[in-house]
Amino acid sequence: MKILVINCGSSSIKYKVFEMPGERLISKGSIEHIGEADSSVQDHYTGLKMVLEKVDSVDAVGHRVVHGGEKFQEPVIIDNSVMRKIKQCCMIAPLHNPANLAGIRACKKLLPGVKQVAVFDTAFHQTIPSYAYIYGLPYEYYSRYRVRKYGFHGTSHEYVALEAARILKRPLEKLKLITCHLGNGCSIAAIDKGRSIDTSMGFTPLEGLIMGTRCGDIDPALVTYIMRRKKIDVYEMDNILNKTSGLKGISGISNDMRVLESHAKANEPRAKLALAIFIYRLKKYIGAYMAIMGRADAIIFTAGIGEHQKDIRSKACEGLFSHMKRPPKILVIATNEELMIARQTCQIIRRRRQCKE
Ligand code: ADP
Repeated sequence: MKILVINCGSSSIKYKVFEMPGERLISKGSIEHIGEADSSVQDHYTGLKMVLEKVDSVDAVGHRVVHGGEKFQEPVIIDNSVMRKIKQCCMIAPLHNPANLAGIRACKKLLPGVKQVAVFDTAFHQTIPSYAYIYGLPYEYYSRYRVRKYGFHGTSHEYVALEAARILKRPLEKLKLITCHLGNGCSIAAIDKGRSIDTSMGFTPLEGLIMGTRCGDIDPALVTYIMRRKKIDVYEMDNILNKTSGLKGISGISNDMRVLESHAKANEPRAKLALAIFIYRLKKYIGAYMAIMGRADAIIFTAGIGEHQKDIRSKACEGLFSHMKRPPKILVIATNEELMIARQTCQIIRRRRQCKE
């Protein structure tokens, strides 16, 4: 079965085609700068048309959808009702879900009759218990507006957890794992017996670890204080928290960890500070997740920083396990969200076919 995996961002489309269930990557590519002033690709429909010109016929399409709210615990075959629910989640994921929907709509038009599956970044974290996902706010905000921790990067956390079980040659159901997805966006998850029981991102992907340009955890009172002090509106404040904070904001140099490491080696104090803050917060979260699970069999590092920056991995774990008889294994595993989406798309289509037979 040939599966096209689509990841539509606000100005980009990334795609991979896999032959399943053999998991052979047939082709991949991306279209960038969609909708930008001097770009020849003004919308996702045009972009996807270009993708499909490069890709021979496919049997199914798997779409990455960032936010499934509480409506989706697992991947689903897309129909009108699913599309309506994804649209309802645009309110809580205004940067991501509209682009994901645009990709789905374009594929429906361009590939009539081909089954499409939505795989949600939030779905894997739907097993988190209520005492970990409810915020210390009036309960009505949850019951009326669904304000709660959702968590993101679920496809990546699930993929590396499965890989870890394979590498450790132990069933996932017997393992306690801490998975650290450290890319431009960073999140960490506590995975007990294959189920996510907590994660650092929250209602949006802003909470938790320090990221390239996102602030992660801060005192919420700072938001109104800075708005009053700088006389700025909510949009400007949102931009500060998401786009000009984190590693970039602290260092004043870059959001790119490789650049910061080289500046830190050259003794640039704010690059050193940004790195120290990043590592300190990561270590605190690893410690907290060890505490909630009682132990960990492995700490898994993935994505750009996690896979390639050894110093950050070792400093985040330094001294954490010295008192333990059986310290966790430290694993570096390359994430493959697209393959995970292809697997889940293949599974759901096969299940559907079996039901019909
Ligand atoms: P995204 O979240 O955009 O997919 P990545 O997983 O590519 O991000 O991670 C980007 C981060 O990883 C940057 O801070 C970058 O400096 C860091 N990084 C370190 N080494 C590499 C590498 N060899 N390739 C890509 N990113 C790297």
